[in-house]
Amino acid sequence: MNRALVHVLLAAAFASACTPPTTPGGAPTASPRPVSANGGGRADTAQRPAPLPVPVSAPFQAAVQRGTRSADGRPGPRYWQQRVRYAIEAELDPAGTSLTGSERIVYQNRSPDTLRRVTMNLYQNLFAPPYLSASSRLNTGGTTLTRFVLQGQTLAEVPKDRWAAARDTGGGGYVVDGTLAGISFPRPLAPGDSAVFEIGWHQRVPPTGGPRTAWEDALGGRVFQVAQWYPQIAVYDDVAGVDVTPYTGEGEFYLEYGDFDVALTLPAGWIVGATGTLQNPEQVLSAQTRARLAAALASDSALPVVTAADLSARAATLPGAGGKLTWRFQARDVRDFAFAASDRYLWDATAARVPDGAGGERRVPVHALYRHGAPGWGRGARYGQHALGFLSGLLAPYLYPQVTVSEGPEYGMEYPMLVFIGRPTSPTELQSVIAHEVGHEWFPMMVGADEAAFAWMDEGVNTYDEARAVQDFFPGSDPWAENRTAYLAIAGRRAEAPMSRHIDKVSGAASGVAAYFKPGTVLRSLNAVVGDSVFRLAMRTYTREWTLKHPQPWDFFHTFERVSGRDLGWFFEPWWFRTATLDQAVASVEAIPGGVRVTVRDLGDAPAPTPIVVTTADGRTARAAIPGERWAVQRLRTASVDVPVQGRVVKVEIDPELLFPDVDRRNNVWVAP
Ligand SMILES: [Zn+2]
Repeated sequence: MNRALVHVLLAAAFASACTPPTTPGGAPTASPRPVSANGGGRADTAQRPAPLPVPVSAPFQAAVQRGTRSADGRPGPRYWQQRVRYAIEAELDPAGTSLTGSERIVYQNRSPDTLRRVTMNLYQNLFAPPYLSASSRLNTGGTTLTRFVLQGQTLAEVPKDRWAAARDTGGGGYVVDGTLAGISFPRPLAPGDSAVFEIGWHQRVPPTGGPRTAWEDALGGRVFQVAQWYPQIAVYDDVAGVDVTPYTGEGEFYLEYGDFDVALTLPAGWIVGATGTLQNPEQVLSAQTRARLAAALASDSALPVVTAADLSARAATLPGAGGKLTWRFQARDVRDFAFAASDRYLWDATAARVPDGAGGERRVPVHALYRHGAPGWGRGARYGQHALGFLSGLLAPYLYPQVTVSEGPEYGMEYPMLVFIGRPTSPTELQSVIAHEVGHEWFPMMVGADEAAFAWMDEGVNTYDEARAVQDFFPGSDPWAENRTAYLAIAGRRAEAPMSRHIDKVSGAASGVAAYFKPGTVLRSLNAVVGDSVFRLAMRTYTREWTLKHPQPWDFFHTFERVSGRDLGWFFEPWWFRTATLDQAVASVEAIPGGVRVTVRDLGDAPAPTPIVVTTADGRTARAAIPGERWAVQRLRTASVDVPVQGRVVKVEIDPELLFPDVDRRNNVWVAP
């Protein structure tokens, strides 16, 4: 999503974080000190509450009963999802900022249900009343439907107050209600049948400030980043049925997979980047551009395809018929389609090497489109290439035939094969934003969760992956600090909301923490709980089994438990479903024959393992750990571990690598008096 918004929220979080948070159930911590030999090494009898089970939604439990989901994280034997096929023709008038289109949708009902109605998203109505006042500069008037044919029959719009009576009478019709349209099939759609929609519409693209889609004049030219732009069928799934979540500009998307065939007409001279593969380069690109593109895609280094001199000489594209060109793109197995366009776009290209799944590798084209003067963008293609290659190794090979990073008014937003990136001021920030948005090609593009209902499955998992990619690109950097600091700023406070909450029901700093910073932090903790190899295997298994499908949180949890062979509910429940916090403290350090006995008190309600590092006067270290299950399952508040060590112990520290987000680090360290 748009990280600019998140950074605003982050600033708000810091502003409110003037005192350390309180720990529910915690006790004042005495200064750690050596105690007598018979004073430590036994369990505290004051037990913590019994661990709670991970709450499972009733619709998910019912889906397991029906066999569309399973209890071990795999899609169930009777799993199904709908399928869509879009053919769209649209023309963008850059001067008038208007977009006129027509589409033919084939909607295939693969569910076991006979459907009488379907819901459609008209996202551009976000830019019209009632969401916006008529005087807002962002008010475009929304989407105007000019034609609506379904199952061969022209449908009439039904006023909202008559819809309840009209929708089930048969004969068809539709109602528009904000960003949603309800549609009644003229004939019920039986399982296995398909329905054809033919829809015409027009709208204007909002100026800069429109979330996720906008145009702007900057750097000597106009750029469009166009998304959420065509009438789109809402998801109907096996767990929750039809998705009727209105688009508010905050929460993100839940989309059906399918194929797109899109023809975009723009003035000649405009460069277009889009979801999918360009089908007619010989009809839109000049011979010089095509030759340079071929050379760039054969190179491991980014090479220029269109330069500023080419733009001045009008040498990038063909002149077109009547001064216009139609760019044709096709995309298979994607959940959306977006495009970016400018007549001032410079174009660099290279290729990323990605495992082909058969022991070899394939070269995936990487394109960067940006205006002259956009800071750092000369490295844009390189950053995209690194993210695509690195994440293909970390998670699963990238599925799609290309990726394009486009510069423009949107600070950071993801679409299949195309990301919108703004103009971060530093090279490290540009790299991290590109890594983040390219990371979304896995979650949610390849693994299509409901982003609004379960934001952590999208932004949270991707924040973790982004940090891994940043750390790989800039060894020695600490990309985890931002996530941890933002989470700890509100951890356990009234301002915090559980990660599991629907993100439209979370506001302010809490939404950035719940969607990005806390899951990005606790997934690193989960990695430390199960170990890196198990974590990688679980993530790869989850990615592979849910590619081009709609996982729910329990599919993720169950996959981790199956792959690790451990019951991890004690970790998932408090961290995902509550705002419980972690606070472990060194209670005492005592000398024992051959080492020290370290006693730890767990003052928080969110359990985690306790890694302990003991340092001796000569600088050597010894390590020990208390498993998380001892706190959570054995319900201890105090536990001891004996650490064999030679020499005088000068320091004992809990979790010096900051793997777990402890709310009070002051009591994590014991220093010899
Ligand atoms: Zn994101």
